Amino acid sequence: MKDFSDFDVVVIGAGAAGLSATSEIIQKKKSVICIEATNTIGGRCYTDNSIFSLPCDLGAHWLHSFSGNQIAEYGKKQKEDFRIYKINEKFLVYDGIKQVNGNNLFKIIDKLKSLKAKYSNTLLYKKCIDVPFSELIPNEIKQNEWYHTAHQAIGACLEGVDFDNFTTADAYLNFKNTGVGDGFVKEGYGTLLAHYRKNLPVRLNTIVSEIDWSGPFLKIKTNSGTIKSKACIITVSTGVLNSGLINFKPLLPPEKYEAFAGVNLGSYNHIILQFKEDFYKYFNIQKDEYFFSKINSLSSFPRGFFGTLKLHNSNLSYLDVGGKFALELEKEGLKASVDFAINTLKSSFGNIVDKYLIKSHATLWGKNKFFSGAYSSAQPGKAHLRNNLKSSIADKIFFAGEAISKNYGTVHGADMSGKECALMVIETSKL
Ligand SMILES: Cc1cc2nc3c(=O)[nH]c(=O)nc-3n(C[C@H](O)[C@H](O)[C@H](O)COP(=O)(O)OP(=O)(O)OC[C@H]3O[C@@H](n4cnc5c(N)ncnc54)[C@H](O)[C@@H]3O)c2cc1C
Repeated sequence: MKDFSDFDVVVIGAGAAGLSATSEIIQKKKSVICIEATNTIGGRCYTDNSIFSLPCDLGAHWLHSFSGNQIAEYGKKQKEDFRIYKINEKFLVYDGIKQVNGNNLFKIIDKLKSLKAKYSNTLLYKKCIDVPFSELIPNEIKQNEWYHTAHQAIGACLEGVDFDNFTTADAYLNFKNTGVGDGFVKEGYGTLLAHYRKNLPVRLNTIVSEIDWSGPFLKIKTNSGTIKSKACIITVSTGVLNSGLINFKPLLPPEKYEAFAGVNLGSYNHIILQFKEDFYKYFNIQKDEYFFSKINSLSSFPRGFFGTLKLHNSNLSYLDVGGKFALELEKEGLKASVDFAINTLKSSFGNIVDKYLIKSHATLWGKNKFFSGAYSSAQPGKAHLRNNLKSSIADKIFFAGEAISKNYGTVHGADMSGKECALMVIETSKL
């Protein structure tokens, strides 16, 4: 690897976007280095193998847009190393201790999905409605006993924000599907991404603190020296950009800071429980079973989880929390998150849960200053600001990452955005 001297391009961040950009620049035969603050590659798509002695994705694990997902396509060709499959959705719904057929919940979910689609549809609504989605939901739906359960699953956990902080305009203006269905990879999405992007020049444990763009070359200050380059691609999250962890000299135009704040990160975390196999047998729980435990409607936002039990047929179950509740639990910490998940499970399965529990873990993405949250969500009234995120500065500073992608909030979207950005850098910065 070339040492810290001059590079054509410096890529900041070794998540899906940064790795993809680095790979593309190498293919164009330009000199490049990827700088990563943490001690691993993958960013928000990382598989841990040590906590449970099993592959455990701490960030992304659904291979979204499965039929058109380029990382899944790569993995399918590596038959020796990866077991990739399309998810066959199954649902387990509990109302307190009673298992129910879930029809009442699914009706509400369908109504909410139709409303989202209706207000995201350009043909019906020429003028885009960039307002809180909660304002567009009729009271009759909000008062339904299953509303909070649906809200947590297809609102908070999907968007990272509750419906009062979500605008369908974000989806309408900024999201284009590139495939259908969801998939899983048994070895972990992070492991797959790292395999897809292996052997790239990445410098780990290197934190960028300043980008000086006052002269003809960029001077990029890190904790282990300053790098000179003709251009850079910044792929850190909008949460990191908004936090001011990276200082720009001179400051960027005000519309960039407005975009970092307006399209900031939502909250979403996994609470992961490892059970003895007998737990799954006892309750007849199948591989990858989606689990809903009815969330009571006493609070103004949903306090509950959306679960995936027996993930990949392993003995791990994921209980996911999003939006304001995820933020609340994150503040209280790992133990509070795990306690909440176990107590909620007990409300359905009884105290017998304790007997089968082996180990637990909870992610706290918002507390990590190199991420500051889960994935981007435009605040109501700010959906148009994703365009400002993308604009480059002086043909030298470029931006990529999930927040800029047409498939924002996803790994394959971040990957595509890295590639597109690298091509733009080659075209416009006369390297
Ligand atoms: C809990 C959770 C679950 C998710 N589930 C899914 C899912 O199932 N499917 C899906 O497709 N997507 C999912 N996502 C979203 C997906 O993980 C992200 O959209 C995607 O991984 C973002 O990639 P990125 O390259 O844009 O950013 P990142 O992965 O954040 O990469 C940016 C990198 O920059 C580094 N960095 C930050 N600051 C600095 C600095 N100052 N100097 C140097 N480096 C720095 C960071 O350490 C990081 O590695 C999930 C995310 C989370 C948090």
